[in-house]
Formats: sequence, C-alpha cells, structure tokens
Amino acid sequence: MDLSQEHSLGDSIITTKLDAVVNWGRQSSLWPMVFGTACCAIEFMATAASRYDVSRFGAEVLRFSPRHADLLLVAGTISYKQAPILKQIYDQMPEPKWVISMGTCASSGGFYDNYTTLQGIDEIIPVDVYVAGCPPRPEAILDAVLDIQKRLWEEPSLKLRDHKGFKGKLDD
Ligand code: SF4
Repeated sequence: MDLSQEHSLGDSIITTKLDAVVNWGRQSSLWPMVFGTACCAIEFMATAASRYDVSRFGAEVLRFSPRHADLLLVAGTISYKQAPILKQIYDQMPEPKWVISMGTCASSGGFYDNYTTLQGIDEIIPVDVYVAGCPPRPEAILDAVLDIQKRLWEEPSLKLRDHKGFKGKLDD
C-alpha cells in the first residue's frame, strides 16, 4: 500500500484514500486468463508451476472463463479466424482489465508474416504490456505481471478505464 496516502490519528485510527485501499487489494489478486494457441502457452505453464510460482505475486488463480478474469495473457500465434474469438473473450471480461501480449507472435505475428496471421493483437484489443521473446522466459512474464501491478495504481478505482481511447479493427 502507498503509505504516503495514510495518516494516523492516535494508535487505533488510520485514514487513507479509497483508491489506495482498492488498488492495494487489486494489486495482489490479479486473476489471469491465458488465451494460449501455441508454444508460448507451454512456457506459461512453467511460469505457473512450482519452480517460478506466479502465486508469489498473487496471480495464481487462473480462470477459464473471461467473466472471472481481469488479466488476459495472450500467448501464441493468432490467426485471422481466431481474431473475432479473442476480441469476444476480451469484451466478456469485466472492467477494470489488463492485457499482456506474450511473445513475438502475439505482439507482431512473428515470422508468420502471411495471409493467415494477425500481425499483432493490438490490431484488435488494447495491450498494456508486451513481452519480447520466442518464447519469453518465465522471469519475463513475472516481470510483466509486476509491471501490471504498478500500472493499476494509476487507475481511479471508481472509474472505468478508457484504454487511452483505443479503437481496434473489429470495433464498430
Ligand atoms: S513467439 Fe515463438 S514460442 Fe511463442 S508462439 Fe510464436 S513461435 Fe511459438
């Protein structure tokens, strides 16, 4: 918690801001959903397993319903056929929500520069953190989770995120 926002009145009363309390709770309870389509998703399994243990950062409650998740982790190549599905899953997540693009394929299409492959998921959904690599190492994914934890402090707790006015190719 950001202690600079706290004030103590005697030994038993502390005042703080609502944003500080809500974001403190959010920071250590991100609920990720992995949209895994290729090899990067296998690498994510290592991140979630005991050796790297994403639960140290409070983000181990992996969800398989977008309605229960606030962190979408896209891992792998996304074809144009899959693009509307990814967009629908993103739309089904409640606000506030964040997105990590894991690996070269999700971020730019990678070496699949062809007529079947989306050249980066940011063509259809807003991305908060890009993780480089093919595949990225688990440490890089953990670093991205920590980055999201820092960024969510910038959000006012009672307002919807505007995602910097993002408009994707599949938006109306
Ligand atoms: S970035 Fe590399 S490891 Fe990840 S999905 Fe693409 S080819 Fe596979």
